[in-house]
Amino acid sequence: MNGITIALSKGRIFEETLPLLAAAGIVPSENPESSRKLIIGTNRPDVRVVIVRASDVPTYVQYGAADLGIAGKDVLLEHGGAGLYQPLDLKIAKCRMCVAAPAGFDYAAAVRRGARLRVATKYINTAREHFAAKGVHVDLIKLYGSMELAPLAGLAEAIVDLVSSGGTLKANNLVEVEDIMPISSRLVVNQAALKLKRDLLQPVIDAFAGAVK
Ligand code: ATP
Ligand code: MG
Repeated sequence: MNGITIALSKGRIFEETLPLLAAAGIVPSENPESSRKLIIGTNRPDVRVVIVRASDVPTYVQYGAADLGIAGKDVLLEHGGAGLYQPLDLKIAKCRMCVAAPAGFDYAAAVRRGARLRVATKYINTAREHFAAKGVHVDLIKLYGSMELAPLAGLAEAIVDLVSSGGTLKANNLVEVEDIMPISSRLVVNQAALKLKRDLLQPVIDAFAGAVK
């Protein structure tokens, strides 16, 4: 494609990206929340947005099916970042990754005892690195969502998940027992596209950079 294709996920990333797009003079013609279209045009005939799962954004950009994308650091760490240039932290979709466990479970004591813990998470790579660095023995169980249920249902003793207000943890009687890292979303750019279409892409990257709060 000659123009620019931008990969976004619907929900918070799409919503929080709208002001950045506006700063680059790009206004999507539809909202993916109400439209079922997966390819959305914009006010610019040479710019389109493709709507993909949050965890698929790096893949679309890596293979050049999209030139640009916006993805959470959580997603990028799991993907590994191959083929991606990551020029900007956009400081949107902010939250943190943490270890959480049931309020009645003494996580610190279990770690001190050297117990082997079952930990459920969508973020296997990040969790593996975190626990290895701390010397905590874990069996990681891969889940695709609703991590909070795992300790309640007896699948795991703890979870690694994203938290913003803490409301979901609280509603499920879980507490944060270890902070892993702050998370926000980054702009990702296909490395080959940046070379071949720099005249088109660089102004968008610069406009995003200028609009970051
Ligand atoms: P899917 O719905 O495809 O399973 P998802 O649940 O990860 O994906 P979103 O909930 O839209 O999709 O999350 C997109 C990104 O927003 C995440 O990768 C993360 O970086 C960030 N994020 C997730 N939860 C929160 C939150 N509670 N507050 C702020 N940002 C968040
Ligand atoms: Mg979600």
